Amino acid sequence: MIKGDHVKISIIGAGFGGLAAAALLADMGHDVTVFEKNDQVGGRARMHKDKGFQFDMGPSWYLMPDVFEEFYENFDRKPEDFFELTRLDPSYRIFFSDERILDVHADLEKNYDLFDTFEENGGEKLEKYLEEAKKKYDLSMDGMIYEDYDSIFDFFNLKLLRGGSKLDVFRNLDSLVTKRFDSEEARKILEYSIGFLGGSPKITPAIYQLMSYVDFIKGVWFPDGGIKAVVDSIKEIGEEKGVEFKMNHEVEKIQVEDGSAKVVKTNHGGYYTDLVVVNADYPHSELELLDKEHRTYDKKFWKKKDFAPSAFVAYVGIDKQIDELEHHTLFLDKDWGENFDEIFDSENPRWPKDPSYYVNVPSKTVPKMAPEGSETLFILVPLAPGLEDTEEDRERFYNKIMSDLEEKVGEDIREHEVTKRIFAVNDFREDYNAYKGTALSLVHTLRQTALWRPRHKSKKVDNLYYTGQYTHPGIGVPMTLISAQIVANNIKENY
Ligand SMILES: Cc1cc2nc3c(=O)[nH]c(=O)nc-3n(C[C@H](O)[C@H](O)[C@H](O)COP(=O)(O)OP(=O)(O)OC[C@H]3O[C@@H](n4cnc5c(N)ncnc54)[C@H](O)[C@@H]3O)c2cc1C
Repeated sequence: MIKGDHVKISIIGAGFGGLAAAALLADMGHDVTVFEKNDQVGGRARMHKDKGFQFDMGPSWYLMPDVFEEFYENFDRKPEDFFELTRLDPSYRIFFSDERILDVHADLEKNYDLFDTFEENGGEKLEKYLEEAKKKYDLSMDGMIYEDYDSIFDFFNLKLLRGGSKLDVFRNLDSLVTKRFDSEEARKILEYSIGFLGGSPKITPAIYQLMSYVDFIKGVWFPDGGIKAVVDSIKEIGEEKGVEFKMNHEVEKIQVEDGSAKVVKTNHGGYYTDLVVVNADYPHSELELLDKEHRTYDKKFWKKKDFAPSAFVAYVGIDKQIDELEHHTLFLDKDWGENFDEIFDSENPRWPKDPSYYVNVPSKTVPKMAPEGSETLFILVPLAPGLEDTEEDRERFYNKIMSDLEEKVGEDIREHEVTKRIFAVNDFREDYNAYKGTALSLVHTLRQTALWRPRHKSKKVDNLYYTGQYTHPGIGVPMTLISAQIVANNIKENY
């Protein structure tokens, strides 16, 4: 049943990519309606609340503050118009083997001293490494990240050709880091940030050395209302510009006639439309919402792609505080190589035996995220996409990670649980229509970076566009905000 409503621009999905595209397009004067299958906006960055505890369900690291500033500038606004930011110090804590606990600080000099304890001239080596990382960051921001690509000629534009050799796209990050640093500690600290892109250092191009510049120099920040405050601010801008949000509206089909998307069919009926921007997961949209002849990428294409990990996430509220944990704490005391093999072996997905993991305690910085005297814990372990995920697996795995955590911090945690929710592979599939239950999207290998990521504009349907983490520049909140700006500009030029 088509309702007869005419929606000029339809956006499918209210993740960061969809919210940002909606606000930008409405700001250009378009009538925009967002269809979201869930009852909250934010997508993977939704919030879960229970018994006074507040959990950002996905992103917890506010990185690249310059990208957020640039985004809000589109509307003559600033992040601080919506939320207060705190620079975290320490940026994060790491538990290593040999019971070593180290803090990476906001102050660079302290980090140089720290690296001196790892190996001879460690501080000097880090300084040089970060100088190179900065060059890569500047070059990417200036000539690559905000660009849209239609062909290899667009990619190798003049600016990039001039600086191209410095981009270092043809070797992997692991070979760069192991060449420069001898100690396990230095290597792990410089490679862990690749986890933000869902990758492994052995398959990620060395251009992503720039993540260390992001981490050490741009710094690690947190908004006073959690990541939810960022989500809400973009929704607010959209509403000010007239965006309409249709929650609990799952799109079931994009109907195409004469090469153009004409109708968006939802579980609440259909809407005529002039243009569609898809923010929902790309494979879901192409394989399930479009008929075969209208797909830019077929089943075979997605089968051959390298997907980023899924995740096991436990949201746990406890009625006490744990001093040993910082806002961000990484447990990297395990066998790194074996752990990456387990996560990236798509032929043989299995639950990791002894994984590295990450604990986020946002209530350390924003006490209102937990009741007084309590703490909000978010525990994240990467898992292989497509992994079989049962209640028994989850419970067994939860107890395994918790036993390790309790031992490391020397405190009981499970006895103090007030609330607990586990989110894993099946939830990513069901809640977000995620292919193989990936938590992220396509890994940033060379073959899946820049112009080799799925396109922002359909090749088959002339008024169909895509935004979000599947598209260039890729995974992470700042990247999806940039992706939305690329799409909005593309539409401005073509529509
Ligand atoms: C556990 C976790 C931790 C992370 N940590 C960080 C971090 O610390 N920092 C960082 O920057 N990034 C982090 N990320 C990555 C970041 O969250 C994502 O890259 C980003 O939020 C993706 O946004 P998106 O708009 O592309 O997609 P999504 O957020 O997935 O939005 C897509 C939306 O489409 C909706 N949808 C799907 N199908 C349909 C349909 N048929 N009809 C209607 N709606 C539909 C979905 O419900 C969803 O709301 C993390 C991600 C996860 C999962």
